[in-house]
Amino acid sequence: MDLVIARPEGLYCPPGDFYIDPWRPVERSVITHAHSDHARRGNQHYLAAAPGAGILRAQLGQNINLQTLPYGEQLLHHGVKLSFHPAGHMLGSAQVRLEFGGEVWVASGDYKTEPDGTCAPFEPVRCHTFITESMFGLPIYRWQPQAQILAEINQWWRANAAVDKTSVLLCHAFGKAQRVLHGLDTSLGPILVHGAVEPINQFYRQSGIHLPPTIYAREVKKQDPMMRKALVLAPPATGTSNWVRRFGDYSDALASGWMRLRGTQRRHGVDRGFVLSDHADWPGLLWAIEQSGAERVKVTHGSIGVLVRHLREQGLDAMGLRTEYGDDENNAAFEPESTEVQA
Ligand SMILES: [Zn+2]
Ligand SMILES: [Zn+2]
Repeated sequence: MDLVIARPEGLYCPPGDFYIDPWRPVERSVITHAHSDHARRGNQHYLAAAPGAGILRAQLGQNINLQTLPYGEQLLHHGVKLSFHPAGHMLGSAQVRLEFGGEVWVASGDYKTEPDGTCAPFEPVRCHTFITESMFGLPIYRWQPQAQILAEINQWWRANAAVDKTSVLLCHAFGKAQRVLHGLDTSLGPILVHGAVEPINQFYRQSGIHLPPTIYAREVKKQDPMMRKALVLAPPATGTSNWVRRFGDYSDALASGWMRLRGTQRRHGVDRGFVLSDHADWPGLLWAIEQSGAERVKVTHGSIGVLVRHLREQGLDAMGLRTEYGDDENNAAFEPESTEVQA
């Protein structure tokens, strides 16, 4: 029996009668993480991993009917044993393990295999069937270690500050911004944040994650000399807005997995691109699948065809599973036009 099937409302567990990250309102939902394409409004009941509770309520409303479960703890529902295991994608992100009638399935949600210091690291979970994302499921996607990318970001900031240019770093406000913050060299200057970033910082700090002090960008006057040495963190959508013009002479950059593609930087019109993703790269996806021990793999949002073909060549029973999740790397829905790789 299939423990998870695709229905018009979302991924459905028939014996448990609940949905995982449904894209249409349902009665019972199990949520893998708080990104808006996975955690949607309108469900009557929500179940999520405990560390994500604060962010989920901020996202969906304080009065949602939310039940939480610590990582690794089991809940029995209609005979289905359910537990959450860290996915390493952002604070509170979880894989969902389901056990019923001797069968074990794991739905990964979004995941990243490199530990990043701002959320519980990805934990491989043994199962018969693994449902994996494939956002960066092409062999060209191979990330450099996070420490190296953060060192490059600090180097860029240092160079800008030396010529009195504000550094505006665009990245997803939710998870990526906190990862960057965690790795910034605070000796270089003050860190300013957009209004979309700071509320999320608070949840990370409350969870015991160390983030350096941050200042609301709007509270700093344009003439203030500290502005010239500052690094500003803001969501990608602000990159072309009036909001960013207040910084006058600035250099901008975008941090995203899509920066692996040369066309991305040009299309966003930024001075610099940093390849930093909250998703597994190609080797990470293959490693997670291998670690799961699954003989059957269902591939969702991303490069489904390429990954399915590769897994079949490895002798696995692999197939695609259609879902309606979006792109949380940029806050902007776009498909890469070119696969030309940045040197
Ligand atoms: Zn996500
Ligand atoms: Zn996703």
